[in-house]
Amino acid sequence: MVVELNELHELTGDASGAQRVAFTDTWARAREWMRAKLDELPVEVADDAAGNRWATLQGESDRALLIGGHIDSVPNGGWLDGALDLLAGLEVLRRVAEDGRPAHTIRLVDWADEEGARFGRSLFGSSAASGTLDVEQVRGLSDSQGIALADALAEHGIDLERLGEARGQLEGAAAYLELHIEQGPVLEGLDVPLGVVLGTFGLERTRVSFTGQPAHAGSTPMDVRRDALAAAARLVLELREIAKRGGGVGTVGTISARPGIVTAIPGECEIVLDQRHLEARGLAAMVAEACAVAERIAGEERVELDWQSLWAIDPIPFHPELIELGQTVVRELASDAPSLASGPLHDAAEAARVGVPTVMLFVQSLRGLSHAKEEDTSTEHLELAVEALDRLTTKTLAWVG
Ligand SMILES: [Zn+2]
Repeated sequence: MVVELNELHELTGDASGAQRVAFTDTWARAREWMRAKLDELPVEVADDAAGNRWATLQGESDRALLIGGHIDSVPNGGWLDGALDLLAGLEVLRRVAEDGRPAHTIRLVDWADEEGARFGRSLFGSSAASGTLDVEQVRGLSDSQGIALADALAEHGIDLERLGEARGQLEGAAAYLELHIEQGPVLEGLDVPLGVVLGTFGLERTRVSFTGQPAHAGSTPMDVRRDALAAAARLVLELREIAKRGGGVGTVGTISARPGIVTAIPGECEIVLDQRHLEARGLAAMVAEACAVAERIAGEERVELDWQSLWAIDPIPFHPELIELGQTVVRELASDAPSLASGPLHDAAEAARVGVPTVMLFVQSLRGLSHAKEEDTSTEHLELAVEALDRLTTKTLAWVG
């Protein structure tokens, strides 16, 4: 499999990294390459209305175990993100097909446009399949060159008006498995190759604006200032403590202050809070605490506070019994089976969201790097990861019954 990962990278990457951006020629070339591999197996290959490609290995029963991944990458991306999932799934299909007809049907899916790198809509294909993609919300999207999403889709035989027909691919699925690189530093920090994913973080994004009074930086004594930027800065630092106490993460990635003159006290300052947690209650508590702290700071700094919720996603927990199976498999192969939450979103969340019993495995990312050409995992760990997915498939087939 590592040989094939290299082959794919040579075909679709360059000195800056992987270039398999969805709905481009390079992406189509990657899929053609993958198609040739699938055609060597006794599987039926078909694309759904959203461009997701399904390879079905018929089993004794029609109940389907799904294994997912995505061949698309971000521009200048890593060689493993998404591609590992698919090629590991291909390895598993090969092994199962060799052993004869499986008890249940196995379907390997290459989700279309997981990254959303070109049009800004991540989990495009999987959310079309889960029914959470609203065609009205994506209809107007265009890329940085001004090419409309509908036109880019049409070039690859996908009709924007018919995306909804991909719904039903997940209906009645017995289980969903995905192996992904961690894309973070946790497993390497623990010095373990593999981990089991408990679910994906919920998210709350909030715009916080402080309004004070712009005034002269020289003539205004310190004790009478109403400095909006100072208030925002205090909240930024508090947010880190709130996340540590609450067991989640909290980030301020953008700040703007006005009037933006070196000799003026900022009268207005706006920041955007991004808070994430694996549990809905934990997330709500973190957001409530941030709001209370913002109010206290506003009072102390004598500035006005405006709190505006921008966007929220619920946490999506994976299936407890499949998490246990994952832990059993990882413990067979490594000294320890840590479980962790996923910060990034994954297609697996769309499967779990509509009630398909789901679990993911993570394999260690070197230096925690991803979405960059430096993304890497040791060969030894890649091989261990395929073995883990294979064993998890066997155990999950038995679990389905
Ligand atoms: Zn990915």
